[in-house]
Amino acid sequence: MSKIFVVSAPSGAGKTTVVRNVLEKFPEITFSISATTRSRRDFEVEGVDYFFMSENEFKKKIDANEFVEWETFYGYYYGTLKSFINSEIEKENSVLLEVDVKGAVKIKEVYANAIMIFILPPSIEELQKRLLKRNTETEDDLQKRIERAKMEIDFQDHFKYKVVNDDIERAREQVYNILKSELIKEK
Ligand code: 5GP
Repeated sequence: MSKIFVVSAPSGAGKTTVVRNVLEKFPEITFSISATTRSRRDFEVEGVDYFFMSENEFKKKIDANEFVEWETFYGYYYGTLKSFINSEIEKENSVLLEVDVKGAVKIKEVYANAIMIFILPPSIEELQKRLLKRNTETEDDLQKRIERAKMEIDFQDHFKYKVVNDDIERAREQVYNILKSELIKEK
């Protein structure tokens, strides 16, 4: 039986590093590749990190009802494709989605058994430091992301599991243990 895992975290909480690394240990869990209209960062790969598309293309997919859920942040669209999730479920693979808190709540409405995991930064100050270090945002975007992070942290009670990313190794281990124990439950 497929399991749906949903991981949310404020941008800069270190979610991508934690998740990608842990997923390498679970070939039976597929990372859900979202569609987005934001531009590709240097290290990102089309069809691996996201399906990058124009706003026009994205809006056509909204009209054609091709998304399980979609959201806009910072003027960009992000969405989970029904076709992607359904084809993994058909193959009996489990799926892990990395979406924002509002998207996570919507996923839970569609897939009631979704296992919700929240990754928290140790503090807002630490989050700010990490975003500055990443240096992928303009000053204005950075401020918006920090404000948004504060709002997202307020959503944490919607999540079954909470992992504080104060130590990357420990956070990875905790996420690993959550996935492992939830996968075993089906047997
Ligand atoms: P970033 O631009 O840093 O990759 O992502 C910005 C935010 O969009 C993150 O909180 C990320 O989890 C979220 N996100 C990525 N894909 C999706 C999606 O398909 N749906 C929703 N609702 N959020 C997404």
